[in-house]
Amino acid sequence: MNIRRTVFQAFFLVGTTAMLLAQGKANRSDNERWQQRVNYYMEIDMDVETNRYQGVQKLEYTNNSPDDLKMVFYHLYFNAFQPGSMMDVRSRTIQDPDRRVGDRISKLSDDQIGYQKIFSLKMNGKDVDHEVVGTILEVKLDDPIKSGQTVTFDMTFEAQVPVQIRRTGRDNAEGVRYSMAQWFPKMAEYDYQGWHADEYIGREFYGVWGDFEVKLSIDKDYVVGGTGYLQNPLEIGHGYENSGDRVNQKVVDGKLTWHFIAPDVHDFMWAADPDYLHNKLTMKNGTVLHFLHQEGQNSANWEKLRPLTEMSFEYANKYFGQYPYKQFSVIQGGDGGMEYPMSTLITGNRGSLLGVTIHESMHDWYHGVLGSNEALHPWMDEGFTSYASSRISQHISRTNKGEAAPETTLENIGSRSGQGGYLRAATSGREEAMSTHSDHYELNGIYGAQAYGKGAVWMSQMGYVIGEEARDKGLLEYFNRWKFKHPNPNDVLRVMEDVSGLELDWYNEYFVYTTKQIDYAVKDVVGEGQKTKVSLERVKKMPMPVDVVVTYTDGTKEVHYMALRMMRGEKPAETSDKRIVHEDWPWTHPSYELTVDRPISEIASVVIDPSGRMADTNKDNNKWEATAIEKKR
Ligand SMILES: [Zn+2]
Repeated sequence: MNIRRTVFQAFFLVGTTAMLLAQGKANRSDNERWQQRVNYYMEIDMDVETNRYQGVQKLEYTNNSPDDLKMVFYHLYFNAFQPGSMMDVRSRTIQDPDRRVGDRISKLSDDQIGYQKIFSLKMNGKDVDHEVVGTILEVKLDDPIKSGQTVTFDMTFEAQVPVQIRRTGRDNAEGVRYSMAQWFPKMAEYDYQGWHADEYIGREFYGVWGDFEVKLSIDKDYVVGGTGYLQNPLEIGHGYENSGDRVNQKVVDGKLTWHFIAPDVHDFMWAADPDYLHNKLTMKNGTVLHFLHQEGQNSANWEKLRPLTEMSFEYANKYFGQYPYKQFSVIQGGDGGMEYPMSTLITGNRGSLLGVTIHESMHDWYHGVLGSNEALHPWMDEGFTSYASSRISQHISRTNKGEAAPETTLENIGSRSGQGGYLRAATSGREEAMSTHSDHYELNGIYGAQAYGKGAVWMSQMGYVIGEEARDKGLLEYFNRWKFKHPNPNDVLRVMEDVSGLELDWYNEYFVYTTKQIDYAVKDVVGEGQKTKVSLERVKKMPMPVDVVVTYTDGTKEVHYMALRMMRGEKPAETSDKRIVHEDWPWTHPSYELTVDRPISEIASVVIDPSGRMADTNKDNNKWEATAIEKKR
């Protein structure tokens, strides 16, 4: 414990709860956890005829945990692309398989499968026991790695690139030769929840933070793009040199050796094709954007994409946190769109080139830099990414049309990002809690609705709960506090508590860990002389703070606000309309009566949350409108 923290703690012992909640930085050290560290050094020799490569890998692994480790685990993702693998069987037995996978793995021949074969493995120079079990390499250690100790693992291996089935592989549908994701034996993460040696079934990744150095030897005609910074552009060329630089390609046995480094990442992807065109754009702030794609009918779109990607990064830097790396690469490859540190693989012959690039590059904030355990919390990655990309898309579309952002009103404030998908799942009867492990959802469709839809709602609806301004502040604070770490659902919630001064534990409790839903209704509006009584009802289980907007026949609007008592405070007013803060609504009470100080004859309508930001599963009962009879009264 350092002195500063002790002083802060002593100070806050005499503080109030509200002060504690408002002072994020003082609490911050309590939220920081130990984190393992691994540095990779890899030399890869690729044979583009056999689609196999030989690898030499040295890991420098530091055990920062308080525990001595008697085992370690590596992921061998390529082994999933073999008939009978867990990914294969899962895909053939799940009710709604990913059509890209289907039964294709079961039909792979020996020269089409993927594999990673381990030839030797030593820890600190001594052979260690290891066994391949599906997509996991289990390593038993005679000498445990002591808490605080750094050890080296030396491995030699051979791998065969599978034909493209899912994300990674050779010769994808658009003819890109190599989309190299999940291609190297990768140390599994050990954290405060223990080992995460998850088998590769379908989706989502989690890795150890570290520095990568990769030397890749490949046929001299191949153009390579990927995660790292190229260290030897003058020996490579292929568009990596600056204009005017003299390139002297260093070809040995028909190959070039590409030397990359990537600091502070948890994964490393590369892609290679002899036909890639390579364009660069240097942003005003110096970040270099690389674009690699084949010449084709979509080339004009790829050209338009370059300045729009810069626009997207500029918005993201401002609202979601400063992108910390020096480069980002948009690369044609893979089977849709997939995110990797400092890069993305997207299919190139598509109309939605901009949309997919915005989404995948935003992942560099919510996956690349905020390295949550995506397998356990896919919504913190896909959901927040979807939320952020919808804001960016809207911004770019407005800017391109020359439109200014509209004035904020009670009806248009914030966004409803993610609600469509989530509400369909919620009302389907098949919803599973958002805390479900991404591989263990019963349906791929429900995983998608929860991870992308409900996860985005978590963030857009947070704007309703604490106010848009506090939530936006929280987005930046979340990034700055948790970059290069592994934030979990409580960590992001604690940031939102800090920026708002409100207690929000109930929000995750209901919205993440259960499938309890939101439905509020205006039950009745009754005139009582010069006053009007409005009866509200919580129809479903999840409690929420409630905005009720009363519109009078003269056109004026009034906001009636009821916080939940367990929030221990109120969100600030979000518009300049008159706002009346009523007594808190305790979650135990299914109904609430509020009094409006004007006769019913002057009321045109009473509406719960006209902004629609609250993911109310039945919006039909949110509104009361004066009928002709009431207007006459
Ligand atoms: Zn995504």
